[in-house]
Amino acid sequence: MNDVRRARIALYRQVAEALRRGQFDVSIPIGAPDEVSELGEALQALAQTLKAQSEQTTMLAEITRRVNEGLLINEILDHVYESFFSLIPYDRIGLALLEEDNTVVRAFWAHSEAMEVNLPVGYSAILAGSSLEDIISTGRPRILNDLEDYLEKHPDSDSTRRIVKEGMRSSLTCPLVAKGQPVGFLFFSSIKANTYSEAHQQIFLQIAGQLAVALEKGRIYQELLDTTAELREARDALETEATRDSLTGLWNRRSIFELLKRDMARAQREGKPLAAVMIDIDNFKLINDRIGHLAGDEALTEVTRRIASTLRTADILGRIGGEEFLIILYPADEQTAIEVMERARRTCESEPVVIDTGELNVTISLGAAVVNDIEDVGFSVILKTADRALYRAKNGGRNRSEAERV
Ligand code: GH3
Ligand code: MG
Ligand code: MG
Repeated sequence: MNDVRRARIALYRQVAEALRRGQFDVSIPIGAPDEVSELGEALQALAQTLKAQSEQTTMLAEITRRVNEGLLINEILDHVYESFFSLIPYDRIGLALLEEDNTVVRAFWAHSEAMEVNLPVGYSAILAGSSLEDIISTGRPRILNDLEDYLEKHPDSDSTRRIVKEGMRSSLTCPLVAKGQPVGFLFFSSIKANTYSEAHQQIFLQIAGQLAVALEKGRIYQELLDTTAELREARDALETEATRDSLTGLWNRRSIFELLKRDMARAQREGKPLAAVMIDIDNFKLINDRIGHLAGDEALTEVTRRIASTLRTADILGRIGGEEFLIILYPADEQTAIEVMERARRTCESEPVVIDTGELNVTISLGAAVVNDIEDVGFSVILKTADRALYRAKNGGRNRSEAERV
C-alpha cells in the first residue's frame, strides 16, 4: 500500500471517529477512483444521512417543545402551523376532532394560505363507513397525491370536493391517538400534486403521540376555561337576581335594608351622620287607574331613573315596595339630606313623563331620618322616623320633602 493511500485511510478513520462523536459537518477528500475512494464515498453518504437525521431529530424536538409550550388548543395549533414547515410541506393544516362518542368528526380549526375556505370550522361528518375510519384502524397517515383523481373515483366525498375547491391537490391525513384513544385527525394539504411521501408519514408518526396528547390537553383546558366562564356568568346572574329588583334594576328590599345596616355600622365606627330617605310616588293609584298597570310600570321606572340621575355614586337607591323607595346617604347631615331630596323631587316635577299613550305629570314625596349620633339608635327607629317624615310630606300636600332628626 502506498503512502498516499495509507494517509487517506488514516484520514477516513479520523472522519469515522468524528461521526461517532456527532460531528457530521466533515469534509472527505475522495481522490483517484479506487477501492479507498469508494470507502470515502460511502463515508460521505453516511455523513450526509446522519446529518439529515440529526437535523430532523433536532427539529422534531423543537416542534415538541413549542407545541408543549401552548396551553390552549388554538395556541398549540398556531405553533404546529408555524413549526412543522421545516419537516412537512403544506399550504393548509386542518384539525378535526372526534365527538359524540367518536361517532362524528367535526372540523375544529384550519389555517390556510388559500383565500377561500370551503371546508369551514364546524363542518361535520359521520365517521362510520368513511375513509377516516380506516385511517383510525390502521393508525397510519394516509397519502393522497392527486386529490382531483381521488374525487373522480369517489364523487361522494364531500370533504374532498370542498378541499379541492380550495385549491388543494394532495393531502396527508394523520390520525391523532392520545393514550390509546383516537381523538381526531390532522390534515396537511398542498396546492401541488405529489407532495407527500413515506418520509412525511414517518416524520409524523415520530411525533404523533406527543402531538395528540398536547392537543387533547389543550382541548380539555379550553373546555375547563369555557365551563368556568359559564359558571361565573350563571353565578353573576343568580347574584343579580337575588339582590336586584327586576323591574327597575335597583337594589331590592332585602339588599337595601342590608346596606342600611352596613352603613349604620360604619357610622358607628366613624362617628359621622347618616340619613335615610323614604320616597313614595304621589297618587300612583290614580295614575294606574288612568293609564293602566303596564304604563304605570313604565312611569315608575322613569321616576327611578330620574331620581338615580341626581345621586352621587356613593348614594344608594333601592326599591322597598311597590312605588316606595329608600336612599341611603352616608355620610350626610340634615342640610345634605334636604338638598338631595329637593334635587330628586324637582327632577320628577320638572317635566312630564312620556309614556306610550301620552304625557303624565308624576311627583314624589320624600321623608328623611337624619342620625347625627347613631349610638343606641336601631334600624327600625330609623325607618319609622323616615316614614313619619314622609307622612308629613304627604299630609302637607304632596310633592314635598321633610326631614326629621332621630
Ligand atoms: P299617595 O300619594 O298617598 O302615595 O297615593 P297613592 O295612590 O300612591 O297611594 P299608595 O302609595 O298607598 O298606593 C300605591 C299604589 O301604587 C298601589 C298600586 O296600585 C300602585 N303600585 C304599587 N306597585 C306598583 C307597581 O309595581 N307597578 C304599578 N304600575 N303600580 C304599582
Ligand atoms: Mg305607597
Ligand atoms: Mg304612593
